[in-house]
Amino acid sequence: SSDSTDSVISTESTGNTGGSSRPFRVVLLGARGVGKSAIASIFAGAMDSMDSDEFELCGDEVCEQTITVDGEKATVTLVDNWDSEDEGGSSQDQCIQTGDAYLLVYSITDRSSFLQASELRISLRQHRPAHHTPIILVGNKCDLVRRREVSITEGRACAAVFDCKFIETSAAMQHNVWPAFHGIVQQLRLRRDTKEN
Ligand code: GDP
Ligand code: MG
Repeated sequence: SSDSTDSVISTESTGNTGGSSRPFRVVLLGARGVGKSAIASIFAGAMDSMDSDEFELCGDEVCEQTITVDGEKATVTLVDNWDSEDEGGSSQDQCIQTGDAYLLVYSITDRSSFLQASELRISLRQHRPAHHTPIILVGNKCDLVRRREVSITEGRACAAVFDCKFIETSAAMQHNVWPAFHGIVQQLRLRRDTKEN
């Protein structure tokens, strides 16, 4: 990944290096009210765009930003259009099939959202069996300590079972949200670099 020529070649073969040709598409999934849009708005407020050739395109549901991760730039399109009520609907299918990576969000104050995250993990596996798709299980609202219904241990154990990374965040306190975005970019790069070999 230190050789930019390799990255360009890989762009042509896989089409997703997060480099200049096509951004990484990262999709937010999770129950209603867990904080997906709060997380998206932190991403939308990123101020990495000091150079004039960089751009940001942010709408209600999709936001594109160029961010620097481990000293290397990556363009990420964050998608926040998951409709948890549209069960089995075409918009859900499209969401699940078009991401390069997923942030699977639940609220630590809402056990049912944790169970929904598990179900979503299973759907992802069913829809994308051939891919080693980067996924981070995100336990949001960790500032609400007295309303906690899901322990860190449970979150971590669930992530281990489902073979994905785990992080607890607080969008309200802006805690750990950027590490989650950086983590997903790191995983996407690892996958890209594995494909090169
Ligand atoms: P979404 O339905 O998943 O998009 O959830 P929203 O982003 O709309 O958030 C739902 C509610 O939870 C809103 O009132 C947010 O202000 C609140 N919220 C989101 N994240 C946090 C958090 O980390 N801590 C706290 N205390 N509230 C949060
Ligand atoms: Mg929302």
